[in-house]
Amino acid sequence: MAKILFMVVPCYNEHEVLYETTKRLKEKFESLISQDKISPDSKVLYVNDGSKDNTWDIIKEIHNNDRMFRGLCLSRNRGHQNAVLAGLMQAKEEADMVISMDADLQDDINAIDEMVDRYNEGYDIVYGVRNSRKTDTFFKRFTAQAYYKMLLGLGVDIVYNHADFRLMSKRVLDNLEDYKEVNLFLRGIIPMIGFPSVNVYYERHERYAGESKYPLKKMLHFAFDGITSLSIKPIRLITTLGMFIFLLSIAILFYSVIRHFFGYTALGWSSIMVSVWALGGLQILSIGIIGEYIGKIYMETKQRPRFIVKEYLND
Ligand code: UDP
Ligand code: MG
Repeated sequence: MAKILFMVVPCYNEHEVLYETTKRLKEKFESLISQDKISPDSKVLYVNDGSKDNTWDIIKEIHNNDRMFRGLCLSRNRGHQNAVLAGLMQAKEEADMVISMDADLQDDINAIDEMVDRYNEGYDIVYGVRNSRKTDTFFKRFTAQAYYKMLLGLGVDIVYNHADFRLMSKRVLDNLEDYKEVNLFLRGIIPMIGFPSVNVYYERHERYAGESKYPLKKMLHFAFDGITSLSIKPIRLITTLGMFIFLLSIAILFYSVIRHFFGYTALGWSSIMVSVWALGGLQILSIGIIGEYIGKIYMETKQRPRFIVKEYLND
């Protein structure tokens, strides 16, 4: 018997794209159902992440016209990652497999066929990987790739050029539920869960309409979260740096004592100035990085809920 697929689509102020996304997902679902690849009970779950426009009204209207579409309304904006998580946790109650996808049609809907095929072959996780970054600006392409390389270098197991377009089986989601972290970086956690996984390659398009809901500031915040929530190597790096500078200062001590006995003591004003500034800077940097982790610990110890559901539209 064909398995039940749920699509989880986070939406934040997406009134410009929702009708088009709905139309295309409907076509895709009908085609997959007619080929008996997915069950007729498959659903699309829109997660309204505290939108300020009429996104939730549109979702309600779509749901009233067609029960293939459902809506989950969060109590307020909690950010993309938490919205996806809320949808996944709701969907896994009924689904055999869940695909998360952005609302803006940047991810290629046609890749869903191949994802479902891979699932039916026995894979638990299918990562959607973009095969080029043609549609990105130079700045975005350069920073994104440098970032992925840096994460890999820090020992974070991450799929290169994969964002949040992925299929996960029910057992992956059951295990994801046990990851209680508040600083959520899904693409770093999913590979930790394990189970057989495979990549599917697709062309990423331009946003269908509207503007990016990830301005640079949010993006930097997200990038920083990714590093500090998954790796403690930056702390070790600081420790190594501190050790190195300490050894260097012993060498400088010997050097200055020797110079003292040769009578060159008036010299060295500039080198003192330089070292005062350099050490001051390094200390502040180190405290800042340690503070970042302590802040994370503080947030994690609170064990706050990561999302709160206000309303769930189902039949
Ligand atoms: N999104 C969300 N909450 C937010 C920001 C974004 O649910 O606080 C959703 C948004 O509606 C979209 C997806 O996350 O479906 C990705 O956002 P966007 O396309 O704006 O990011 P970009 O593709 O520009 O990185
Ligand atoms: Mg987008």
